[in-house]
Amino acid sequence: MIPRLDADRRIASPSDNFLRHLAAQGFQGDIGARAADRLVFSTDNSIYQVEPAGIVFPKNIGDLKRIAKALARPEFSGVTIAPRGGGTGTNGQSLSEGIVVDCSRHMNRILEIDPVRRIARVEAGVVKDQLNKALAPHGLFFAPELSTSNRATIGGMVSTDACGQGSCLYGKTSNHVLGLRVVLADGSDFLSRPVSEEELRALQTRQNRIGHIHRTLARIARDDKALIDKIFPKLNRFMTGYDLAHLQREDGRFDLNAVLCGSEGTLAMIAEAELNLLPIPACAALINIRYDDFNAALEDARTLVALDVASVETIDETVLRLARGDIVWPRIAAFFPGDADGINIAEVLADTPEELSEKLAAVAAALAKTSFAGRKGYTITTKKADIEAIWAMRKRAVGLLGNVEGPTRPVPFVEDTAVPPEHLAAYIREFRALLDAEGLTYGMFGHVDAGVLHVRPALDLTRADHAALVRRISDAVVALTQKYGGVLWGEHGKGVRSEYVPAFFGPLYPRLQEIKQAFDPLNQLNPGKIVAPAGSSLPKIDAVPLRGTLDRAIGNDIRAAFDNAAYCNGNGACFDFDADSLMCPSYKATRDRRFSPKGRASLMREWLRRLSEKGIDPRREAERQRRTSVILRLARRAWNSLNPANRDDFSHEVRAAMDTCLACKACAGQCPVKVSVPAFRAKFLELYYGRYLRPVNDPIVATIETMLPLLARARPLYNLAVGSSLGKALLRRAGLTALPTLPARSPRRELGRVPTATAQALARLDSAERADAVIFVPDAFTEHFDPQVLLDAVAVARRLGIHPFLAPPLLNGKALHVHGYLGAFHRTAPRTARQLDRLAETGIPLVGLDPSMTLAFRSEYAGAAAMRACVLLPQEWLATLIDRLPTLAGKWPRHRLMAHCTERSTAPAAVGQWIAVFAKLGIDVVAAETGCCGMAGTFGHEVRNREISERLYAMSWQPALASAGADDVVMATGYSCRSQAKLMDGRQIPHPLQILRARLEDDAALPLKDGAMYDM
Ligand SMILES: Cc1cc2nc3c(=O)[nH]c(=O)nc-3n(C[C@H](O)[C@H](O)[C@H](O)COP(=O)(O)OP(=O)(O)OC[C@H]3O[C@@H](n4cnc5c(N)ncnc54)[C@H](O)[C@@H]3O)c2cc1C
Ligand code: SF4
Ligand code: SF4
Repeated sequence: MIPRLDADRRIASPSDNFLRHLAAQGFQGDIGARAADRLVFSTDNSIYQVEPAGIVFPKNIGDLKRIAKALARPEFSGVTIAPRGGGTGTNGQSLSEGIVVDCSRHMNRILEIDPVRRIARVEAGVVKDQLNKALAPHGLFFAPELSTSNRATIGGMVSTDACGQGSCLYGKTSNHVLGLRVVLADGSDFLSRPVSEEELRALQTRQNRIGHIHRTLARIARDDKALIDKIFPKLNRFMTGYDLAHLQREDGRFDLNAVLCGSEGTLAMIAEAELNLLPIPACAALINIRYDDFNAALEDARTLVALDVASVETIDETVLRLARGDIVWPRIAAFFPGDADGINIAEVLADTPEELSEKLAAVAAALAKTSFAGRKGYTITTKKADIEAIWAMRKRAVGLLGNVEGPTRPVPFVEDTAVPPEHLAAYIREFRALLDAEGLTYGMFGHVDAGVLHVRPALDLTRADHAALVRRISDAVVALTQKYGGVLWGEHGKGVRSEYVPAFFGPLYPRLQEIKQAFDPLNQLNPGKIVAPAGSSLPKIDAVPLRGTLDRAIGNDIRAAFDNAAYCNGNGACFDFDADSLMCPSYKATRDRRFSPKGRASLMREWLRRLSEKGIDPRREAERQRRTSVILRLARRAWNSLNPANRDDFSHEVRAAMDTCLACKACAGQCPVKVSVPAFRAKFLELYYGRYLRPVNDPIVATIETMLPLLARARPLYNLAVGSSLGKALLRRAGLTALPTLPARSPRRELGRVPTATAQALARLDSAERADAVIFVPDAFTEHFDPQVLLDAVAVARRLGIHPFLAPPLLNGKALHVHGYLGAFHRTAPRTARQLDRLAETGIPLVGLDPSMTLAFRSEYAGAAAMRACVLLPQEWLATLIDRLPTLAGKWPRHRLMAHCTERSTAPAAVGQWIAVFAKLGIDVVAAETGCCGMAGTFGHEVRNREISERLYAMSWQPALASAGADDVVMATGYSCRSQAKLMDGRQIPHPLQILRARLEDDAALPLKDGAMYDM
C-alpha cells in the first residue's frame, strides 16, 4: 500500500496574508494556493522549476488594481508577483516564488473589433488564434506569428515582443501595438499610446508615478541617443524588451510601449491591448524545397531570401524525421516526397490569383536559373487547407523535438539566437561545431530570412555533468552571437537568461535600472528578470532550480515506466483554446490547468518523486497490492478512508486532477511528447484505491461489460430500472446518470444467421473463402446497446461479397483500465489477446466497430498482452476493399462525418479512409472539426461528471450539429457520441456503416436523413 504523502510542505509566508487581504478587498477572481495549483504553475517550457506561493486569477482590470494596491501597502512590500498568460515561455519568464497573476483564465474577452479602423481591443488573456478566429469573418488578422499561437496570450506576446514566421514582412508584436492599458505597481492604471511632443511635456509635469516614468524615459531617449544608436543592433529582432531604440518614433511621437513591449512583466501588468489589424492576404502559396542535407538548405536560403517571397523557413534532418512520425504528417506527406534531409519553405503572397501565378513563375524561373547541387526538387502548395497543414507541422517542430525516447531530451536555453541573416550559415557552422565538440545531439530549424535559429541540444538534466553544460554552452553561444553581431534572445525573451542582459546592453544597463526604478521602485514586479535594482545583481542561470534536479530522485526506470508524465516539457500544446480542437476537453470545460495533460503530468511527476523519497517503487507496490488478500485490502482501505489523519494526503490532490480526465486520448495522440494521461492515470488509480475506498459507481462501471449479457436477458427489467423515476433516483445515488436503455428487441434473431467464428467453422474454409471473409469483433456495448451498427456491418460485408463471421463473445476490458482495475485488466487482456490471435492466425481480417473499444487493442493492450492480432476499424477494413465498392449514380446531399475523438487523435488516417470509401461511391464527405462530445465512454454517465459532459457538448458538438444543413446527412462513428447527441438534442445520428449499407442496397433511394433505421 502506498503511504500518505504530505500535501503541503510550504512554510507560511507573507504571501498568505497577502492572499487573505486580497480576498477581503473584494477580489473577484479565483485564488489558488493548494499544493497542486502551485505545482502546476511552477514550470513553463523552460528547464527550470520554481514554486510560487500562490496563484491569483483576476476577473478584470479592477482585480489587477486590487493586486497592485495591496502590493503598495507597507506590510506587503516584501511580496512579489509575476504576471502569466499561457505559461509557454521557454526561459522561466513567468516563474516566481511570489504570487503568479494568471490573466488567461478569466481576462480573455475580445472587447472590440472595428473592421473599418482595423483595430481590435482585447483583454490580456485573449489567445492569439482566438483573436484571429474572431477576425477571420472580417477578412482581417493580427499578423505577428508564433508557434504557440493556439495557447499564447496577447499579454504574453506583448510582454515577450513575440514574433516568428513572417517577421521580415510583418515585424514583431510591438509593431502592431497601438495602445496598452496597464496597471502600475502603485495601483494606478494608464493607457499608454504614442504621444506628441506636447502631450509628452504634459505627461512629464504630472506629479505621480506616470510623470516620473515619462520624465525618466524622455531624459534617457534624449541624453543617451548616441549610445542607444550604437548599442542596439540593426536586426529584424532588435534587442527585445526595454527597446530604447524605438522610444522616439520616426513620426516624431514618443512611445512608452517600446519599453513595455518585451518587458516580461517587470514594469507593469497589462490589462488590455489595442492592436493594429491587417487584411488577410488574398492569395498565398508555399514552395516546399527539398535538399540533400541541412547545410545545403541553409546555403540555398540566401538565394530564396533574395527572391520576392514573404518568408523563408528551414528545417533540418532531425526535425524532419520527427515530423514524419507525427500525427500531422500523413496530411502533408505528398508535398515532401522522397528522402530529403533538409527543407526550406518559402511563402509567396499576392493580392490576386494572377499576381500569385506571376510571382510563382518568377520564383520557379529563378530557381531554374540558379541551379544548386544540393537541391532535390520542390512542390508548390496553393490550397489554403494544405498551407495551414504545412504551417501546423512547422509550428509543432519545437514540441516534436521532445518526442524522443529515454532521459536525454532536447531542452531550451540557447534556442532562439538571431544574427544578421547574411552571417547565418557561417554562424550555424560554428554553433554546430560547438555542440558537436560536446558530443551532443540536436535538431535545428528556424526563420532563415530573419537570421533566427531554433536549436535544442539534448541533455539529461538529472545528470550533474549535463546540468553543467547549460552554463558552458550558454556562455559560448553568447560569445558566438556577439561575434556575429547578433543577440541571444532573438524571439523567446530573456527570463532566467537575464544574467546576460548587462553583457548585451553594456553601458545602457544602468539606464535599464533607472527605468525599472521609475516603474517599480520596490522591485515587486517579476524580480530577477531583465534588470536588477542598482546595487544588486541578476540571478545566475545555474542558481535557479532545474526541474532535472528534482527529477533525479525519481530515477530513470520509474520515469520511463509512467507514460512520459515525467517528460512533459510544458510546451502547453494541451492548452489549445479552440473548442473544436481535440486537446484537452477537461481543460477546456474547466479552464483549470490542473485538469490538463500538463497539470496531470506535473502532479504525477511530483507524486512519483515523493514516493521515491520514501523509497517506494510504485511498480513493485502495485504487484504487491495485487497479491494481497481482498479482505485485508478492504479493511485497510476502509480504515484509511475514515482516518482523519489522511485528509491532507497529497494523493487526494492528484486524484482530484485525474477524476476530470475523460480518457479521450487526445493527449496520447497529439501531445508532441506523447504524454499519455489515460495510461498513467490507470496506474495511479490502482495504487490510490489500494489505499482508499472507491466511489460506489466504480465497481458497477468496471463490471458492466461482464454484466451486459445477463442484463440483456432481463431487458424489460433493466429498461424499467434505468427509465423509471425511482430507478433513475437510485442510480443517481450510486453515482450514475443518463444510462441508455437496451433496444426493445434483441438482435439475436438476425445475428443468429451470422456464423460464429469458431475454430471448427473457420477450419472448414478453403483459402479462397478465407480471402473473402471477415470476422466482426463487436464490443459488448455496441452489441447490446447499438446492435444496428453490427447488423449494418454484416449487411455491408454481404453486399460486397464477403462472408461475415462473428467473434465469440470476449471481454475488451477498457472500462477496467479506465478505472484503474489493472489487476483485473491484466488478467482479461491476455485472455482476449489469445482469442484474437487465434482468430487472426486464419488470415481473415478482424474488424471492431466502436473506435475507442477497437483502438484499446492497440494502446491499452500494448502494456498488458503480447497481442499479434490487429483488429481493424471498419474504415481500415473497407479501405482494403475499395476496388469492390461500386460508383453510384445520383446526386447526393452533403455527408458530414463526426469522427470519434480517440480515432482522430490516435489513428490519423481514420477520417481520410472514410472519406475515400464514400468518394469511391461518388459521395463527398466533409469531416467535421469538433472537439469531444463530452460522453467519452462512461465519463458522461457519472453524476459527478455530468455537468462537464454537458458543457463540453454545448461547446462543440451542439453548434456543429445545429449548423448542419437540413438536407445534410450527418454520421458519427462513436457510440458515446451518438448517445450523447440523442440525450442532449434528441438526434439519432447514424453510423457511417448504416449510411453505406443504405447506399449500397438502394442507390436510387431518396437521400437519407439522420435517424433513419434499417433492418436486415
Ligand atoms: C513550443 C514553443 C514554441 C514557441 N515558439 C515561439 C515563436 O514562434 N515565437 C515567439 O515569439 N515565441 C515562441 N515561444 C515562446 C512563447 O510562446 C512566447 O514567448 C509567448 O509570447 C508567451 O506567451 P504566453 O501567453 O504563454 O506568456 P507567458 O509565458 O505566460 O509569459 C511570458 C512573459 O510575459 C509576461 N506576461 C504575461 N502576461 C502578462 C500581462 N498580462 N502583463 C504583464 N506581463 C505579462 C510574463 O510575466 C512573462 O514574463 C514558443 C514557446 C514554445 C513552448
Ligand atoms: S502534456 Fe504534452 S502538450 Fe501538454 S505541456 Fe506537457 S508536453 Fe506539452
Ligand atoms: S485523456 Fe483527454 S481529457 Fe484526459 S488529459 Fe488527455 S486530453 Fe485531457
